[in-house]
Amino acid sequence: MNRVYVLSSDRTPLMPCSSVIARLLLKEGKAKVVRRTPFTIKLYVQPEHPSTQPLTLGVDTGSTVIGSAVASEQNDIVYLSEVEARNDIATAMKERAAYRRKRRSRKIRYRPARWLNRRNSIKRGRFSPTMRSKIDAHLREIRFVQSILPITSIVLETSTFDPHALKNPEVLRKKWLYQKGINYGYANTRAYVLTRDGYTCQHCKGKTKEQRLEVHHLIFRRHHGSDEESNLLTLCKTCHDALHAGTITLKCTGKKKGKLLHATQMSSIRMQLLKRVEAEETWGFVTKEHRLLASLPKEHCFDAAMIATRGQRPVIQIQTVLVKKCIPDGDYQQTKGKRSEQRLTTGKIEGFRKFDKVRYRGQEYFIKGRMSTGYAILMMIDGKKVDLKPIPKLEKMKRVSARSSWMIDQRSMPRSIGNASQETPRQDIESQGEKEGTALIHEAEDLVVFLPHQV
Ligand SMILES: [Zn+2]
Ligand SMILES: [Zn+2]
Repeated sequence: MNRVYVLSSDRTPLMPCSSVIARLLLKEGKAKVVRRTPFTIKLYVQPEHPSTQPLTLGVDTGSTVIGSAVASEQNDIVYLSEVEARNDIATAMKERAAYRRKRRSRKIRYRPARWLNRRNSIKRGRFSPTMRSKIDAHLREIRFVQSILPITSIVLETSTFDPHALKNPEVLRKKWLYQKGINYGYANTRAYVLTRDGYTCQHCKGKTKEQRLEVHHLIFRRHHGSDEESNLLTLCKTCHDALHAGTITLKCTGKKKGKLLHATQMSSIRMQLLKRVEAEETWGFVTKEHRLLASLPKEHCFDAAMIATRGQRPVIQIQTVLVKKCIPDGDYQQTKGKRSEQRLTTGKIEGFRKFDKVRYRGQEYFIKGRMSTGYAILMMIDGKKVDLKPIPKLEKMKRVSARSSWMIDQRSMPRSIGNASQETPRQDIESQGEKEGTALIHEAEDLVVFLPHQV
């Protein structure tokens, strides 16, 4: 069942309806289509008693992919999306600087250099353009969801671990009491240790190319080793197995200074979000434990679903996930050729711009490039060029939607969601089944982390 988003005649969002009802409304001329992806209709007549229920928006913040989901009070998921933030800003700005430097030496080389004369370069506490774009991507997505659904509360995952709970895990127990069987304190410390060690194996420093990381107790639990961060160390699965089999010995002792620069940077983005959006706060390790309990695959949108339901098992009936990719607002290269002989058209060619979504021969694509001769190169949302023979002509295309700050598409839900099998409860083998002299087999789901998606 797919959801259709409904706006009232003054564009305030109402509860979404099923596609059957939407079709009826459209047929009877009571509504019109205002957006195709996601499908949104606007009513012509203001409903007398619009019924709204509390909806929670959950956002899995991240520096590359932002997941978001909206859940009703019954944990029914009515919206799922993944936004890919821009990652090309630093490169693009370096390129621009190089162009400018070259132009300076070519055209105004006798003019004395000026220094620190830009407002931005002397401003304190400013965010780099990359950071600003990432913060804006989050805010834009939140505003977008608020424009199509009557959101009543927002939950933000602000960081992978809670630094305040490291010393005092009791705080967590009070907050997340409703999910029994999760040792939140340990999960938090584990997330911290992985961040502290930079998601790198501390024995081989990543040389084995093993993707799976585990957290090892320097003094084993059965020897009453503690769960504190000073007793924990990140190891890859290869090294960890070898260590427990006795084929290697650790070079490092584990007492390691924290390398928290990246985490601090990330959390500064997230604190900005908390400042600008009125929201509850949650942490990555909580989401992860809840997602494992609900046995959902590791994807940003499902993380967001767990955040939106505040840890309850989500009911996922919608069949599609929205995919968005942030793009620049304009094309800044204006000329081509050694001495800028050839001017490039930055405006429209035959009514089309770069990144427009078009329909060509019954399929939808995005425009990757245009030729002034009237042809275009098309791509999918991931930026991969589509090989079409003959080369598509612009005149044979129809524009579906014009270029905006992001490209929007949707993909269908992976099968097996919704009837996910009950997973066996977590077990910590390192504390239980360990016998003297036997090699340890770590239960996969329990200790394994894949390389982080938020770094
Ligand atoms: Zn290793
Ligand atoms: Zn171990």
